[in-house]
Amino acid sequence: VFILAIESSCDDTAAAVLRNNKVLSNVVAGQKIHEEYGGVVPELASRAHQQNIVPVVDMALKRANVNKKQLSAIAFTQGPGLMGSLLVGTSFAKSLSLSLNIPLIAVNHMHAHILAHFIDEEGFDKPEFPFLALTISGGHTQIVKVNSFFNMEIIGETTDDAVGEAFDKSAKIMGLPYPGGPLIDKFAKEGNPKKFQFTKPKVDRLNFSFSGLKTQILYFIQRNVLENPNFIEENKADICASIQHTIIEILMEKLKMAVAETGITQIAIGGGVSANSGIRETLKNAEGKYGWKTFIPKFEYTTDNAAMIGIVGYQKYLENRFNDASIVSKARIEF
Ligand code: ATP
Ligand code: FE
Repeated sequence: VFILAIESSCDDTAAAVLRNNKVLSNVVAGQKIHEEYGGVVPELASRAHQQNIVPVVDMALKRANVNKKQLSAIAFTQGPGLMGSLLVGTSFAKSLSLSLNIPLIAVNHMHAHILAHFIDEEGFDKPEFPFLALTISGGHTQIVKVNSFFNMEIIGETTDDAVGEAFDKSAKIMGLPYPGGPLIDKFAKEGNPKKFQFTKPKVDRLNFSFSGLKTQILYFIQRNVLENPNFIEENKADICASIQHTIIEILMEKLKMAVAETGITQIAIGGGVSANSGIRETLKNAEGKYGWKTFIPKFEYTTDNAAMIGIVGYQKYLENRFNDASIVSKARIEF
């Protein structure tokens, strides 16, 4: 089975080709244009997708050494995401499936961040059902009980900002460019995580809140810069390490609660923030510390990519879960 997968939910145009559960090619074209605006501008993202989609798909086919005529089905991201961005991938997938006369498969982007663990990769184990997934990305923060490929329940989620936003907004307050998450990660490596203390939010049950942390960091920076205009420059590594440490503690506290509540000790992380080296290390250590089995995705399957859309497409293909041309993009989507 050859699956062509397309992902265009936000600001990355991505295409991948899979042979069964193996990735043959995984191409991502980022969009530099948003950097100067300090965030994703939906109008510009949509236009860039329109420019990128044909060359990105061509490149994915070429790198996989697969001809369009060999394809078994086309999988695409139906949502959630930015409407103007989703529309480009959806229309492209629809027309290609019509012209090649092969099945069309709609994929939920958040399912894909979780099911990326089922891509066959040497050195990476696949979780067994049921497992818990911590999805941490630019728009979501969820703890999901994954019962099977197509049966998942959200058992906890953020009540305001997502973890990725907490990283990006903190970085912005520090004057770092967008997206700041990877930069905080980079500077944190040299810093002392206990240097500055931030209070953790009190949120009920398995839910999260990150907007208070952002405000706290804003006031903390403002207060210190008033006393010392070079405060950020002089303490950059320690500030980043302390912010990252606080975020990881918030996540771990809720994960521990989720394990206690469900009795499930297999934990898989997914989403762009699971690229974070501090989070990866903390979860790895949790295996020895708490007796969990943790699943950390290969780096290229953490931030937005089409391989993860392809693996869900493959699983749906096996069960004949196809869509017809009446399928529409959805900015928000039922889980
Ligand atoms: P969603 O998946 O919720 O629709 P998205 O697709 O925009 O959101 P992803 O690509 O999954 O988001 O994740 C992007 C986020 O991941 C950004 O907020 C970015 O800063 C963050 N991120 C990426 N790498 C790192 C890192 N190393 N450390 C912390 N955050 C990171
Ligand atoms: Fe994403």
